Amino acid sequence: MKKTSIIILLLVLILTVFIGTAFAIPNDEIWVAIDPGHGGVDGGAVINDVKEASLTLEISFKIKEIFEQNGIHVLLTRETEDDLSQGDFVKREDMIHRVNTLNTSNACLALSIHLNKFNISKYRGAQVFYNTTNSCNPYLAQVMQQSLITYLKNTNRKIVKRENIFLLNKVTIPCCIIECGFMSNPEEFALLQSEEYQYKIAYALLYGVEDYLKLY
Ligand SMILES: [Zn+2]
Repeated sequence: MKKTSIIILLLVLILTVFIGTAFAIPNDEIWVAIDPGHGGVDGGAVINDVKEASLTLEISFKIKEIFEQNGIHVLLTRETEDDLSQGDFVKREDMIHRVNTLNTSNACLALSIHLNKFNISKYRGAQVFYNTTNSCNPYLAQVMQQSLITYLKNTNRKIVKRENIFLLNKVTIPCCIIECGFMSNPEEFALLQSEEYQYKIAYALLYGVEDYLKLY
């Protein structure tokens, strides 16, 4: 074989290996952890006998369904109405269990799902809380908030940095808290209980996670 033929053959081989590697990124191995806030004795906010803990679980199940339809595996920190402490409810034990589940999950990020309540009923709108325990958190929070603004079309809220939230301080993987809306606003409370709106939230979070994963 001529020297030039060998060089061409080598170049083709190198190019084939390079292209093969560049396009062989498996996207079926993406795991996201979803934490349905509260549970058990700790119902979270309660309005007209409707517990925040029940709504966060309903919304989290929708998130799992929609994410998995789109190739993202989901780990839930709880799948029943119960809390996560062993035996009698102890808030700290429940929180430590949640944090450990998230930190050992191998998930690329975690979203803790909550609903807001305020003593003035006019306030409404989904909002993301974050801190800087993981350096990716500010970007994750911003992307998730923007997606909620774009797809829910009913909030212009801005992300809020909080240094005094146990979960945010202890979770080491990229993480933020999604307050999906205000139970204290009658109109939004009705939306938050409807399956259609719960799916809308799930899609808004899916598109946010997809945007986040484009960079990380
Ligand atoms: Zn809550």
